[in-house]
Amino acid sequence: MSDQKTDKMLQDGVSRRSVLGIGSAALAAAAFAGLSAHAQTREGAQKAEGDHSSSNPGQENKPLLAENPNSNTPPPTDFGDVGPIWYSYDLTKRRVQEGGWTHQVTQRELPSSTDLAGVNMRLTAGSFRELHWHTADEWAIMLYGNARVTLLNPDGTIFIDDVSKGDLWYFPAGFPHSIQGLGPDGCEFLLVFDQGMFSEDGTFLLSEFVAHTPPEVLAKNFGLPESALANFPTGPLYIFPADLPKSLEEDRAAVGGEKVRSSIQYTFKMEGMAPTKRTTGGEIRIVDSHNFPVSKNVAVAINTIKPGGMRELHWHPNASEWQFWMAGKGRMTVFMPVGSARTADFNANDVGFVPFNAGHYVENTGDTDLVFLELFKASEVLDVSLNQWIRRLPPEMVHSHLKLDKNAIQTIPAEKLEIVPR
Ligand code: MN
Ligand code: MN
Repeated sequence: MSDQKTDKMLQDGVSRRSVLGIGSAALAAAAFAGLSAHAQTREGAQKAEGDHSSSNPGQENKPLLAENPNSNTPPPTDFGDVGPIWYSYDLTKRRVQEGGWTHQVTQRELPSSTDLAGVNMRLTAGSFRELHWHTADEWAIMLYGNARVTLLNPDGTIFIDDVSKGDLWYFPAGFPHSIQGLGPDGCEFLLVFDQGMFSEDGTFLLSEFVAHTPPEVLAKNFGLPESALANFPTGPLYIFPADLPKSLEEDRAAVGGEKVRSSIQYTFKMEGMAPTKRTTGGEIRIVDSHNFPVSKNVAVAINTIKPGGMRELHWHPNASEWQFWMAGKGRMTVFMPVGSARTADFNANDVGFVPFNAGHYVENTGDTDLVFLELFKASEVLDVSLNQWIRRLPPEMVHSHLKLDKNAIQTIPAEKLEIVPR
């Protein structure tokens, strides 16, 4: 029987049983037993074809299967199609140049993600990501090491700062900037752009601007003889090695000191930031335009979840969610109308996606801390907590819907905890 036909039968069966008022546990078991295409064994479920239906006598990519148990053998609550919600930087082509490397996960790799695209980049000590600008806003988090960043404001003031692991920066579209790896071992960082189809190959490079301008025009513009421009690059530099810069103070002084210094702060030192919310299950830090004013079009929630802990059931009323998984492992289920759900597993270096308004949780399934980012193309992080919604309603209303005992309702957390206590 085709999957589609099975799904149709299941859907019909579910609606009939719902009308008959059968409890949700019995309903799940019945739905489960009816799912021959995804048959699994479970206590209380009718065995029917049982284990044999999920047997797989043909070819298998065993390393991928081992990483994705919830895709290969979905929980019986999964149903229908919510679209792609997973990709990994470790599936992409890495562009390696002398001085570092880069690779990207954009809408091309993860078609559901129309709002945001991500680039993961490494620069060795002294090496530059060439002076450039682009059409998208750039949000970034340092993943390793140290870097120096510069940005010129249209009013002629210049921002120069050093960043370390955990720090953020935000560069508005069109504002020219640079990134340089510092000692002892350069840096690695994640860039997130507020355009799904953004490409790291589509940026405006200083080297290409001068390479594609007639030399006599360059000479007239700079007020220099053409001979002085003889060593200009003739092609893109993009990433290239260089000597380590002077100290931050020396560089700031060399460009003109306080009188040309940007009054706008483009970096955010997250190292010293207290959690926005902390429970026994973990902690969450929210950085958006409320505490990092330049971050107008990208907002982030940084989650650290302890083994067994869980980001509570919630959704975001203002944007889709683009995730970057920094450490540990976990699983997420995404719920969409009509009755669709998809569960997937995630590991460090993976990208996750949650459609606009789709309900979801994230559970740490490993034995180390799970660290992941929730990113939104929005000026602020907004979420709706299922627990809080239930607790703000008259208990009778909740009981009518869920048949939940009134005493049990009172034990559900009434305040938004973000991460469920263990
Ligand atoms: Mn950039
Ligand atoms: Mn979320």
